[in-house]
Amino acid sequence: MAGANPTPEALQAFLDRLSAEIHERGDWGKVADYIPELADVDPAQFGIAVLLADGSMCSAGAARVGFSVQSISKVFSLACVLGRIGEQIWQRVGREPSGSRFDSILLLELEKGIPRNPFINAGALVVTDELLTGRTPRDALSEIIHFIRLAADDDDIHIDRAVAMSEQDTGDRNRALVNYLKSYGNLKNPVDYALGTYFHQCAIEMSCIQLARAGRVIAGLPGAPAILSPTRARRINALMLTCGHYDESGDFAFRVGLPGKSGVGGGLLIVAPGRASIAIWSPGLNDTGNSRAGTFAARRLAEFTGWSVFG
Ligand code: GLU
Repeated sequence: MAGANPTPEALQAFLDRLSAEIHERGDWGKVADYIPELADVDPAQFGIAVLLADGSMCSAGAARVGFSVQSISKVFSLACVLGRIGEQIWQRVGREPSGSRFDSILLLELEKGIPRNPFINAGALVVTDELLTGRTPRDALSEIIHFIRLAADDDDIHIDRAVAMSEQDTGDRNRALVNYLKSYGNLKNPVDYALGTYFHQCAIEMSCIQLARAGRVIAGLPGAPAILSPTRARRINALMLTCGHYDESGDFAFRVGLPGKSGVGGGLLIVAPGRASIAIWSPGLNDTGNSRAGTFAARRLAEFTGWSVFG
């Protein structure tokens, strides 16, 4: 990545202007309503936190408000499974962008039960299933939470059980996906264990400040705890760049030029490798299921900083 980082003061002033601009635009999108508990969140909220390599944290807006990280948890479950079984996970899940809906059944049928990548739901369910092998759902969840707490150096990160139960009641597509995986012999644990663990992992709640801190290990920032090897962090970054934003992954790479992972709670974790870990939240989504204001803010931030993995 070319150029110098902005000073924390210049970045802070920029984030304050950006937050004001987002509120003036008022272009919030629609909250995800297929998980009833998320349907009640006010879309007109915006928070951003940027942790720089020198340890300074700049933030603006609702950066301390907790939100449901949903699919962003898949980055951390993948980190855990790579630590546990390494490359063997690639026998059960691919590494290609999907170009289809994140919960597509069609793709799984076509590809005979090997999900395209670990960030679509079927792939994440396989990762979670692998983390469950030889242990209880409680222990598998503890491993993910423990990893995130260590990464963020914050024990105050937990699961919102109401969100998990809400998805448990309505997650029929995910139930269908797990059953498909099972029918193709790509599920090692009982369907209900895999689903329950997955729903709870998606229901982890974090604020932008907490998420930006947890992202230190993926961004390889100085001072991050040594819980993820640099090679694995690079590989996770590559998957975030190519597969992190549902059907909009190509456009995000084109316009922002940084690895990122979004979730239907409206969160985004974005990585400027070696430079910064960025968390953005605005719960209103665009048509592809990514945070509308959050994606706009990511573009503005990339323009302001000049950060891009492409030089
Ligand atoms: N728990 C959500 C689901 O499986 C996560 C989706 C997302 O954030 O992309 O539908």
